[in-house]
Amino acid sequence: MTESAASTYRIQGDTGEWEVVIGLEVHAQVTSNAKLFSGAATAFGAEPNTQVSLVDAAMPGMLPVPNKECIRQAVRTGMALGAVINKWSRFDRKNYFYADLPQGYQISQLYHPLVGEGAIEISLDEKDPDAEVKTIGIERIHVEQDAGKLMHDQHPTRSYVDLNRAGVALMEIVSRPDMRSPQEAGAYLSKLRSILRYVGSCDGNMDQGSMRADVNVSVRKPGEELGTRTETKNVNSVRFVMQAIETEARRQVEVLESGGRIVQETRLFDPDRGETRSMRSKEDAHDYRYFPDPDLLPLELDDAFLAECEASLPELPDAKRRRYESDLGLPAYNAAVLTAEAETARWFEALLAESARIQKKGEQEVARAASNWLIGDLYGALNKLGRGIDESPVSPERGAELLALVADGTISGSLAKQVFEIMLETGEAPGWIVEERGLKQTSDTGAIEAVIAEVMAANEDKVIEYRSGKDKLFGFFVGQTMKAMGGKANPAVVNELLKKALG
Ligand code: ADP
Ligand code: MG
Repeated sequence: MTESAASTYRIQGDTGEWEVVIGLEVHAQVTSNAKLFSGAATAFGAEPNTQVSLVDAAMPGMLPVPNKECIRQAVRTGMALGAVINKWSRFDRKNYFYADLPQGYQISQLYHPLVGEGAIEISLDEKDPDAEVKTIGIERIHVEQDAGKLMHDQHPTRSYVDLNRAGVALMEIVSRPDMRSPQEAGAYLSKLRSILRYVGSCDGNMDQGSMRADVNVSVRKPGEELGTRTETKNVNSVRFVMQAIETEARRQVEVLESGGRIVQETRLFDPDRGETRSMRSKEDAHDYRYFPDPDLLPLELDDAFLAECEASLPELPDAKRRRYESDLGLPAYNAAVLTAEAETARWFEALLAESARIQKKGEQEVARAASNWLIGDLYGALNKLGRGIDESPVSPERGAELLALVADGTISGSLAKQVFEIMLETGEAPGWIVEERGLKQTSDTGAIEAVIAEVMAANEDKVIEYRSGKDKLFGFFVGQTMKAMGGKANPAVVNELLKKALG
């Protein structure tokens, strides 16, 4: 746990080096069938204005009723971030006018949020996640309503309003200004997304807007007080967050070095031009005339509810990664890759469970082979197909069958690659493919010896070189023998027989 090169990112200006300070406010849509204060549905991509209740449309006299599931998901999220859960919290009205906000106020939490301080550990070394770790503080998580959506591209002179999103529950997850580089912010956002997806409290689909980040950036000379920050709104990918920080920090350095001041303001990120633009000067909390929502009672959580939330938490990515290392004996890199996304870990565990059922090898040996195959062959294939692991054309069960054929010596590792290609193309079972296409590995010593004799006869010069001490040529003979046998010879037997033949 050391401060190192990656965490001392600096921008070089004319007057010296500048440090960048970053805090993220992440809006995460809560996974729930119904909205925060109404029973309307929350499905993405529905026809405009088909998921709007009278509450969401702010019809006079309609009253909000808190959705317990949304509160439960926010509490579980807080617990997963090791945060303080406030048993007493309260909703406030944040008042402003905009066409996507029929109520004229957003129900949010300012004074008494549901979740208090927590933290996220980020890794700055992909190859060895424990080599360089930094803790980023979480200030709070509050629960609030999302607004509707304005549609400006439907008509040449008119704008439309879609209220499907109005009233959907959001968690606003506010970090401390603890990040010091675009890389750290990227790692924080990826880790947060991973945890939310493990917990199941947000689907983390940044391209559908269900997770978006407001990026607060300031710059200072190392050791100085915090500078004035700007806030770039609604950035919707990890890459854009990193780009927005980079360009915004450089802009601030230029302004300051040319004698200007940073104005506290809200900015927009333009991904096409890779720059941020001023949107409006930033409001302070008092501009919104916050006050406790008189339509809602404070939230009081009892111990039974908290215990249920706690008990429902899954094993989280860091714990899982460490268990893969200690119990399954996996290399740190494999463990990190397999646990970064909940679906990958789930797929891997299904592969292991099936392997344990059909193979006799020890758990660690099975896990190592399975993890290498998943990260190498399966990921390679999925990348080519442009698919995620949950859309894999090969199931964990079929994968386990393939690994078992390698483990019991029926096919070699290189044959397994061929068989896997055929599985991807045809969807056939590996055992069937091996049987049908005669791909079985042979340990028939007579057949292998015959081929070795041929190879040696065709390469007499190399045999002489080998015998006069050029040991490296051994691999050449293995390769030639395997090739002549169509990859079907048992490599261990080939090695043994070659050693004997070459003397
Ligand atoms: P608001 O809700 O008005 O945006 P907050 O006090 O909740 O204000 O802070 C928002 C975010 O700004 C937090 O994530 C915090 O870490 C970050 N932040 C605060 N001060 C700075 C600063 N000087 N530089 C960069 N980020 C900052
Ligand atoms: Mg803010």
